[in-house]
Amino acid sequence: MSDDLELETLALRTGIHRSPFNEHSEALYLTSSFVFDSAAQAAARFSGEEPGNIYARFTNPTVTALEERLAAMEGAETCIATSSGMSAILSCVMGLLSAGDHIIASRSLFGATVNLFNNILKRFQIETTFVSATEASEWDAAIRPNTKLLFLETPSNPLTEVSDITTLSALAKKAGAWLVVDNCFCTPVLQRPLEFGADIVIHSATKYLDGQGRVLGGAVLGPRDLLMEGGVFGFLRTAGPTLSAFNAWIILKGIETLKIRMDAHAAHAMEIARWLEAQPNVSRVFYPGLPSHPQYELAKRQQKTGGGIVTFEVKGGRSAAWRVIDSTQLISITANLGDAKSTLTHPATTTHGRITQEARDAAGITEGLLRIATGLESTRDIKADLARGLS
Ligand SMILES: *Cc1c(COP(=O)(O)O)cnc(C)c1O
Repeated sequence: MSDDLELETLALRTGIHRSPFNEHSEALYLTSSFVFDSAAQAAARFSGEEPGNIYARFTNPTVTALEERLAAMEGAETCIATSSGMSAILSCVMGLLSAGDHIIASRSLFGATVNLFNNILKRFQIETTFVSATEASEWDAAIRPNTKLLFLETPSNPLTEVSDITTLSALAKKAGAWLVVDNCFCTPVLQRPLEFGADIVIHSATKYLDGQGRVLGGAVLGPRDLLMEGGVFGFLRTAGPTLSAFNAWIILKGIETLKIRMDAHAAHAMEIARWLEAQPNVSRVFYPGLPSHPQYELAKRQQKTGGGIVTFEVKGGRSAAWRVIDSTQLISITANLGDAKSTLTHPATTTHGRITQEARDAAGITEGLLRIATGLESTRDIKADLARGLS
């Protein structure tokens, strides 16, 4: 195949290795183990002398197909698929870091990521310093001799703050650390962090990659030496946060339509964001595609569009925010995002409910804040559904 293919073509045509049946759609290999022709072959597979499948905790052809496709789309040498986005982050950290190492992370991260860094990793003597997503000087000041990892999401969840990947990758190099970017909100359709100097990309495939809210999945992408010899794959095959073949197959099918879905999600989000800005009971709208967004220019350089997530603050705090949620008849009240169906959530009491009040205040997650992940329904109907609770 030509190596000069556009992203939407890669999404359909990479990672295909047909079986002797010559199936058109990718085969789903529901098998936990693989048989060998001989004792000698088994030995050669286990020693690594001969490549090939052994056991599905290590590799499975359906999972491999997804890994090849995602790697091509992100422009990465290697992809390691995992059972969820969180297990992708965990595998990355467990593979690359040791007790005594230090992480610098954006304050504006997915709630479970904050919990992992702050509470769980701390028990293993890995310390994290949280800094502003947008102030590079804070990252610089936080660098220590033992800093090994810089971690961010851009745009961030839920406030859609945009971090400058190029600037932070230069800081990571200076520190001798790796820059890890959680690219869940953008997907490679909108942003390819490795092109801006990131070392590793993380995905929660649960979101836009699946795109229809069916399965959990995740991925770690980056240079082969770092992920394969560096210990991430070793952690996965030993500890077992492996992606199931069934989930890999669902995500493979989801990715086929990723480009057109992301374009539609973003067009709908832009329209909803503009409409929300004009609502008298909305005090602020956070969307990287709006000129009012503080990092609008940076977002234009780094992302193709503003993406599909719009966060807004209603006047009147928690009760007003909950009224908007409870007045909907169409939009799903769920903390998930990246689904064909629009979803609405109150971050302060759901996705970010388990971090401390102090951490919420520092991240700017107020009681009046709502996050909508705009789906593929008609925008007229989404607006009417939001309007019910806003008036
Ligand atoms: C959902 C999410 C995760 C975690 O992914 P799971 O698949 O739920 O484990 C990580 N980062 C971001 C930005 C997310 O939205």
